[in-house]
Amino acid sequence: MLKARQVVLGKTTQVARVLPDRQIRMIGAWCFLDHYGPEDVSQSVGMQVWAHPHTGLQTVTWLIAGEVEHRDSLGSVARVRPGELNIMTAGRGIAHSEISPEDKPAQMHGLQLWVALPEGSREMDPAFEVYDSLPSVAMPGVSGQVLAGTIAGVTAPTRTYTPLAAADLQLDKEIRTTISVDASFEYGVFVVAGSVQVESETVELDQLLYLGRGRSSVTVSTVGGARLMILGGLPFEEEIVMWWNFIGRSHDEVVGYRAEWEERVRLRGLGAARFPAVIGDDEPVMEAPAMPTIKLKSRTRRQES
Ligand code: MN
Repeated sequence: MLKARQVVLGKTTQVARVLPDRQIRMIGAWCFLDHYGPEDVSQSVGMQVWAHPHTGLQTVTWLIAGEVEHRDSLGSVARVRPGELNIMTAGRGIAHSEISPEDKPAQMHGLQLWVALPEGSREMDPAFEVYDSLPSVAMPGVSGQVLAGTIAGVTAPTRTYTPLAAADLQLDKEIRTTISVDASFEYGVFVVAGSVQVESETVELDQLLYLGRGRSSVTVSTVGGARLMILGGLPFEEEIVMWWNFIGRSHDEVVGYRAEWEERVRLRGLGAARFPAVIGDDEPVMEAPAMPTIKLKSRTRRQES
């Protein structure tokens, strides 16, 4: 069982971060999971994640309530809204900001996940896509949407670069149900609201139960009702180096990404090939933290014992 830790994202937003975890670093290529809210942002500025870079990954944003404005160095300007899956593929490099608009709804609630790109795709061109009509799951007492791959026999059209699956499911009170999954994938169940029983384990809010591989279904039950995210994927066997907003394959590669971002900050977006300006020179940017004094080690999906 993995328990989220509380982290401040950007300037203002408290998030529960459950991946990466010391023991379980990834589920398939899913390598990062933040859950924020529900939070009343009617009296505050809301989310203030200033322009920052990414490499070697995709960000997957799924809002349950509220609105966030996404801007990126491709020129994308998008209102992220509930029920629309926003996927930003960093590939070799992108910069973006995520800011609550002034006319934001009072409630903000959502998830952001990252997907590690495999060797053959990590230097690809950056891209930004919105999937606004994902397929629904409708079973007695269960409703929700499949965000990627196939869960409960329902397949999402989402393009991924490794075999993945994800679904956001709401369970009514007093429900016990069996959800079919792919036995070749490893899975985890993350609780977004309420609590669920997964086989013999109780999973509470902001906890993630790692289920491993080899099962063709997952049986979940709840007394008081629950909302959960099922995440799965083919185990990601490449060793990666994940630091700040970057995924690379070596310490030196990450040092290079950081140096290119610092150069872009210094030059206000001019002459920075990997990370061009987000939208204008007046946009506030996040500076990279200092590198740790020890060399970053590449890691597999499981911590070496
Ligand atoms: Mn980001």
